[in-house]
Amino acid sequence: MILVLGLLIVVAVILILRPWRQRGCRWRQDSRKLADGRVLFTCAACGAEIALPKGRAPRDCLAGEME
Ligand SMILES: [Zn+2]
Repeated sequence: MILVLGLLIVVAVILILRPWRQRGCRWRQDSRKLADGRVLFTCAACGAEIALPKGRAPRDCLAGEME
């Protein structure tokens, strides 16, 4: 029974934290795509895209918001 509880806790932690989505996010500025004065960044790790005002850089991985 303790084994089952431990397994459930591990699964819950993995589902909540999703560590594989929080790491390895590498943002690259796409200088070819400029629109409305904003700069488009693409993540080389997960393929996420985000447009930010000039001078700002994305910090968080958006992999979890792509679904
Ligand atoms: Zn990413």
